[in-house]
This record gives sequence, structure tokens and C-alpha cells, in this order.
Amino acid sequence: MARRKKIYEGKAKTLFEGPEPGTIVQYFKDDATAFNAQKKDVIEGKGVLNNMLSEYFMNGLTNVGIPNHFIRRLNMREQLVRACEIVPLEVIVRNFAAGSMAQRLGIEEGTTLPRPVVEYCLKDDKLGDPLVTEEHIAAFGWASQQDMDDILSLALRVNDFLSGVMYAVDIKLVDFKIEIGRVYDGDFQRLIVADEISPDSCRLWDIETGKKLDKDVFRRDLGSLTDAYTEVARRLGVMPKGGTHMTRPTLVN
Ligand code: UDP
Repeated sequence: MARRKKIYEGKAKTLFEGPEPGTIVQYFKDDATAFNAQKKDVIEGKGVLNNMLSEYFMNGLTNVGIPNHFIRRLNMREQLVRACEIVPLEVIVRNFAAGSMAQRLGIEEGTTLPRPVVEYCLKDDKLGDPLVTEEHIAAFGWASQQDMDDILSLALRVNDFLSGVMYAVDIKLVDFKIEIGRVYDGDFQRLIVADEISPDSCRLWDIETGKKLDKDVFRRDLGSLTDAYTEVARRLGVMPKGGTHMTRPTLVN
């Protein structure tokens, strides 16, 4: 591999300088972390699956007109994306109660929410990504009111798109997290969906059985994470129909 400049190493991805100005290469690692990196493991093949699934979802967003950072997949573990300034918020959309919301509010997991609920967390690992309100966001200048209007609209559009895509393959989109990037076109700035969309950042339950097909399999020790992600990829037609026991997933074009 040619030597290139590493920009940032995160828990699940490493970012390198891209071949042209304004581009970044996202390398998807096999590392899995949960509970703010207190639980860690290496899950063989996870990076390949997330690279391909994120490509699939981001291309889908492009096809329905939702702006995002994806340019093209480079190989099994890498994709070229547009460089952007990441807004320091995790944007969470929930359709059914689960995880921290179910705990915080004492709602049984799986309860249908009366409407999609959008939450914001400050991206700060040292603080454990605390939940913040729009008051905090405005007061500390993490995003402007116009940004927040655009972020809400993007988040709900992504939710409608992803819910439909998953429903078509008998999967319930319980909740997900996206990150938002700021890009500049001349004097104008606009916001786009960035980072990744994968089973690492969504809760996905089989509609019939309720079986979890997302990172909760790792968080809660429910079995093989690779099998769960391979099942999602197989249903979406991103992976070959060759069963769920491949340790080295291969791309079929
Ligand atoms: N999520 C994520 N990264 C985070 C926190 C949450 O991708 O740092 C996703 C998580 O996978 C789930 C949704 O956001 O799909 C809501 O997560 P929640 O607040 O319930 O937190 P968790 O229970 O995952 O700690």
C-alpha cells in the first residue's frame, strides 16, 4: 500500500488523506467497541461488511436526493468520501423505544413511539457522548438554528428512506445514529450526511422473530456479529446468497 497521510484514527475507522484535495479515504476496521470502548474485540470481516453496507445506504440516499459524503468504494475496506467539517453532534432518530431511551424513560424495549423522536448527543468520548438539548447546542454554538432545521430535515428524510429499505427485507428500523458534515461550495455552506450508515450505528430487528441484526449482538453477547451483519447484507442483495458463515466475505458484482 502506498504511504499516505493518516488524518484520524477512530474506534471503527481510520481516515487518510484522499488522492484529490477535498477527498478522504475511509478505511473500515474489524474493531468492535461498545459502552464507550470499555468492551472491545476484533470481529473478522466486520469492516468489509460495513464498508459495503454503508456504500449501499449512501448510494440509496444519493438516488433519492439526500446529500451525503459518499463518492465511491475503492476496495473491500475503503471508500472515497468528500471531506467535510463534522458537526460535533450525534443525531439519533428513534421509531421504537430501545437502548438508552428505554432505560432513561422506563419504556419497554420495542414500544412503538407515537412519532419519530430525534435526539442529539455531544460527540465527546471523554464525557461519554452526553445527551444535549437544542438550548445547549444554541448556547454553546455547536450549530446554528438554520443548521438545526436542516439537520432535523435530513434526519427525518434518512429515517423515511432507511425504514422503507429495511422494511422491504423484513427488518424493523428501531433507531439509528447519523453524523452531519458541513461543506463549502464557494460562499455557500450546506450540510450533508457523513460518517457511515451500517449495523454498527442502527438497531435492526427481524420483523417476524424480533431477532437482533445489529451491534447489540456484540454489546449483549447474543451470538456472532459477523453472521448478523452478513444476514442484513444478504437480504439487501449486497452479499452473495452463500450462507452466513463466511469469515472472509467477498463482493459479487
Ligand atoms: N449509536 C451509535 N453510536 C453511539 C451511540 C449510539 O451509533 O456512540 C446508535 C446505536 O447503535 C443505536 C442508536 O444510536 O442505533 C441509539 O443508541 P442509544 O442512545 O440507545 O445508545 P446505546 O444503547 O447504544 O448506548
